[in-house]
Amino acid sequence: MPPLRALASSCCVAILLTLPACTPAPQEATLTLYSARAEHLIRPLLDAYQAQSGVRIELLTDSAASLSERLAREGEGSPADLLMTVDAGNLWHAAERGLLQPVDSAALAEAVPEHLRDPQGRWYALSLRLRTMVYRDGAVQPGELSHYRDLAEPRWRGRLCLRTSKKIYNQSLAAMLLDAYGSDQTLAILKGWVANLAEEPFSSDTLALRAVADGVCDVTLVNTYYLARLVIEDPETPLRLKWAEADGDMGLHVNISGAGIARHAPHPEAARAFLEWLLSPEAQRIYAETGLEHPVRADIPLHPVLRDWGAFTPDQRPLLRSGELQAEAVQLMQQAGYR
Ligand code: FE
Repeated sequence: MPPLRALASSCCVAILLTLPACTPAPQEATLTLYSARAEHLIRPLLDAYQAQSGVRIELLTDSAASLSERLAREGEGSPADLLMTVDAGNLWHAAERGLLQPVDSAALAEAVPEHLRDPQGRWYALSLRLRTMVYRDGAVQPGELSHYRDLAEPRWRGRLCLRTSKKIYNQSLAAMLLDAYGSDQTLAILKGWVANLAEEPFSSDTLALRAVADGVCDVTLVNTYYLARLVIEDPETPLRLKWAEADGDMGLHVNISGAGIARHAPHPEAARAFLEWLLSPEAQRIYAETGLEHPVRADIPLHPVLRDWGAFTPDQRPLLRSGELQAEAVQLMQQAGYR
């Protein structure tokens, strides 16, 4: 009878020859990612990670609301390891519903500034999405604009275009205004914006930008990657960016895309390793190049279009306020007649 060790190893060889997947090494795991991001923005990240780690990533793409519903419905049986979406408001909602688990990671805490992650570690920023003013060259002098609340002044009557208040980007911005100025002043700002509209609110940031370019209005509020896309498409565009300046507590509104590990993730350790990799210099460079968003890490070179816009003063308040105050902000938007 052969010694036990020899038996075990020859058996393993036999099994390996016939069933290569008999004992999957940890790096051969498959992760399931529920993502509300456009697939073409995420695919380069997944491919790069798979190439170097061997981890396969199953991607399920849907809206943030549908993915949250699905996670809640699936409960303990959910195959999801991670939830990835845009807007701190969405991440906050998912965390509040108990769909994400706390992750304690020195690498994540070091890469992501404190105000851009959940204090309990249930979500972390992966990229920055800046919302600021864009005007048409010649129609506005850059010195005429300094802050979001300027757009409520009567001199902008009939000159402002906005995206609908139903979009979470504007709800989060309104929540951060509310946190900085309180409800009376915020309501006055929102009413001023509505009074200044040249057109009914648009369904997208791009339509609002095109309206400014076409002379329908002179100024709008958008996320900068939409402007960057138009600038790359048409370098002769008359659209110009103006960073909202700091005003008391309120700096330039920085929202995020981010992710967290699902409460019932089947592979929490592999999910954590992937999340940490998404904040590595390599992955952050992919974010900066493919999505035209600002990376979370300050040591990553910006896309040239973004670099040309120069420096700004970002808001430093905890972004979780945009979730906590969102319901109240939406009420104020409705009260102001902002559709
Ligand atoms: Fe967007």
